[in-house]
Amino acid sequence: MNVRAGARTDVGLVREGNEDSFLIDGPLFVVADGMGGHLAGDVASSTAVEVISEEGRSASADDPHSLETLVQHANSAIYKKSQDDPALHGMGTTCTLVVVGDHLAQFAHVGDSRAYLLRDGELSQLTEDHTLVNRMVREGRLSAEEADHHPQRNIVTRALGVDPNVAVDTPGLQVRNGDRLLLCSDGLTSMVDGSRIRETLSAEEDPQRAADQLVELAIQAGGEDNITVLVLDLNDGRVETPIDTSDTNTISSVGTAPTDDADDNSGRNASGSQESVIRSDPVGTSGTDFSSGVLRRDVMAPRKRWPRRLGAALLILVVLSGGAYFLVRTLLSNSFFVGVNDTGMVTIYRGIPDEIAGLTLRQEERETDLAFEDVPPFMQDDLEEGIRADSLDDAETTVSNLISRAEASEESTETPQDENKKNNN
Ligand code: MN
Repeated sequence: MNVRAGARTDVGLVREGNEDSFLIDGPLFVVADGMGGHLAGDVASSTAVEVISEEGRSASADDPHSLETLVQHANSAIYKKSQDDPALHGMGTTCTLVVVGDHLAQFAHVGDSRAYLLRDGELSQLTEDHTLVNRMVREGRLSAEEADHHPQRNIVTRALGVDPNVAVDTPGLQVRNGDRLLLCSDGLTSMVDGSRIRETLSAEEDPQRAADQLVELAIQAGGEDNITVLVLDLNDGRVETPIDTSDTNTISSVGTAPTDDADDNSGRNASGSQESVIRSDPVGTSGTDFSSGVLRRDVMAPRKRWPRRLGAALLILVVLSGGAYFLVRTLLSNSFFVGVNDTGMVTIYRGIPDEIAGLTLRQEERETDLAFEDVPPFMQDDLEEGIRADSLDDAETTVSNLISRAEASEESTETPQDENKKNNN
């Protein structure tokens, strides 16, 4: 199978550093979510990815045991480091990896990162969380809904690097042309529910943009943890539609590259090399085929805009029919969005960002103290378009997220964080 990958990692809105690591080395893909105080988590997850990258050639999709061995080796390497250095004692990492073969995708999994399959519009989780709450769910002591919001939902019962040996799950999957796989850390799944993930993966054809959108959703939901998303599109090489060479989507996806990269690369220091996270440049991965000499881009389906247009047309009709204008006003008074006002300040509006038939259907609700220019560049586009909110509370949450985002990026320019990242492309 050819694999076309999209990837993005983000520190989120709350954590100081990004302790997630990932690897894109087709046909091998890994997500690891490190834990342990003070950068130890970063060491754990990057060590896992490093070992797997170095020894990954020995892993075959047809041999689950080879993947298990690979993960055991990573476990030993992390465990040894944690024994040798008191500062790293107790560190650990999740690890979810897949090797994609022609007929089989073979996974190896420890912890609470997840693998999902999107097929025929259905999303199914392929891995089982090794967490306290999941154990309680299986024992019938907790419902799945309760588990999602349980205060101890992030306590893992299995991780790499904690003990000399680790039990590894190795689920396999018969793959089909057109399958889409998702590997992600819990920073996504604890913030964004499954139906939202399914909708996003179903609606966005481009894997890089799908990954970007999922990360944005997690950030908009509060971004309480580091978020890492790999979207893998499987293709057996059969081209169903001729390639449209006028397609400019490849170029535009370069434009949406996460600006976090600047943070990630700026802080690399001299001693960082032995603990580098192998991660690939999300720009470079966009639109790249990994496992065959056939270079093809997936043909982008035209975006389905008509329901929106239809909605707008209906609204215009309603608006034009005189008194109904006030009805619309009333309806819109329950909509909010966060945008920018004329003086360049981030502002909460009541109404909708779009103009309809030349009418502005918005009203300033509250001007915040945050200047547009202080908002990190990658969020400025969204802000200019207007970030919709379901309620005033929701809008206020968005604003506080933007403020902490702005503060975080300010800090990282003052004291560049040592994220020890290097590119693998
Ligand atoms: Mn996490």
